[in-house]
Amino acid sequence: MKCIFDYKLSDLENYFESIGDKKFKARQIFEWIYKKHIYDFYEMTNISKTLAEKLNNEFSTKLLKLRTKQESKLTNKYLFELEDGNLIEAVLMKHDYGNSICVSSQVGCNMGCSFCESGRLKKVRDLTAADMVRQIIMIQEDINERIDSVVVMGIGEPFDNYNNVMDFVRIINSPYGIEIGARHITISTSGLVPMIDKYATEDLQTNLAISLHAPNNELRSRIMKVNKAYPIEELIDAIKRYIDQTNRRVTIEYLLLKDVNDTDKCANELSKLLKGLNVYVNLIPYNETSHIEYKTSPQAQVMKFYDILKKNKINVTIRKRFGDEIDAACGQLRANEVNKL
Ligand code: SAH
Ligand code: SF4
Repeated sequence: MKCIFDYKLSDLENYFESIGDKKFKARQIFEWIYKKHIYDFYEMTNISKTLAEKLNNEFSTKLLKLRTKQESKLTNKYLFELEDGNLIEAVLMKHDYGNSICVSSQVGCNMGCSFCESGRLKKVRDLTAADMVRQIIMIQEDINERIDSVVVMGIGEPFDNYNNVMDFVRIINSPYGIEIGARHITISTSGLVPMIDKYATEDLQTNLAISLHAPNNELRSRIMKVNKAYPIEELIDAIKRYIDQTNRRVTIEYLLLKDVNDTDKCANELSKLLKGLNVYVNLIPYNETSHIEYKTSPQAQVMKFYDILKKNKINVTIRKRFGDEIDAACGQLRANEVNKL
C-alpha cells in the first residue's frame, strides 16, 4: 500500500488528475493532514464518502510506533519503530528561539566514521520520505507545539539517500503542509562531492552543513573513510562551487576529539584552509559512547581552539551540549537498543 506521507503536493495533484478528479483535492488532503492533524480520510468533511473509501483503500495514513522517549529540560529523544521493525531516532531540541528537530535519514550508515555510533552499525536501508516526515509529525503530536526548524543530522548520510531526502524537504516545506521555512532546514553531509554539486542546483533556499572534522587529508582519512573517495581539496572546491552558485553561507561542523583533532596546530591549519570562504564553523563537543575509544576535548582546549579560529577571523560558535544529560548524540539510543537484542 502507498503511504500518504510519501507524497509531495505535486505528486498528489497528479494522482487526483490521474483518477479524473480535481487537482485542488490534493491541497485539501495536505491541509487536513499537516495543518489540522486529521489522519482519517472519513473525518475529512470536504471529501465525499466515496472518495474517502477509495483513498482509504489505496493510501496508508499510519504513523510510527513510539518505542522509547527520554525527556529532559532541553531535549527529548525519541526511538521510533518502523513498519518493518527497524528502529530510528529523532531528537527535539527546545531552543529559546523555537523547537528544532534532528531527523534520521537512514537505518544505520555506510560511511563508517570511526567516532560515530550510527556508522558502527551498517546501513540496513534508506528511509522513505514518509519515514522522515512522520518523525516530525510524531514529535509535533507529542508536544503539541509548532516545529520551527529541522536538521537532517540524525542516523544516516542524507546524500546517500538523496532523492528521498529532497522529497522529504519539499513535503515539510510546502505552504499547505507543515510549512517549515526552507531557511530553517539544514542538511548535513560527510562530504559526498557529486551530491553537493547536485544540491547546489535545487531551487530551494535550504542550508548545507559539512562534517569536516579535520584540517588535512592524513587526519581526516583516519577518522572518516569518505575522505579517501573525496579528499579535502575536492571537498573545499565543491563548497566553493556551492557558495558561488547559491550565495549561501555553509556551516562547517568540527567535532573535537581529545588529542586527535583538537590541537592548536589543527586550529591553525583549519583557519588557513577556510580563510576567505563564506562559512562558519560549529565546534561540536564529542559525546562519548561506551563502544568507541575517543574522548571529549577538555573545555579549556575547546576554548583555545575557538580563540585561535577567532584570532584568524574565522566565524565560529561552540555547539551547546544538547544531548548530554540523556543518551547523547543521535545514534546512541538506537545503538543501545540494538545491542540489547
Ligand atoms: N551523516 C551526516 C549527518 C549525520 S551525522 C554527517 O556525517 O554529517 C551528524 C553529525 O553528528 C556529524 O557532524 C557527526 O560527525 C556528528 N557526530 C557523530 N557522532 C557524534 C558524537 N558521538 N558526538 C557528537 N557528534 C557526533
Ligand atoms: Fe554516517 Fe554521519 Fe555517522 Fe559518518 S558521522 S558514520 S556519515 S552518520
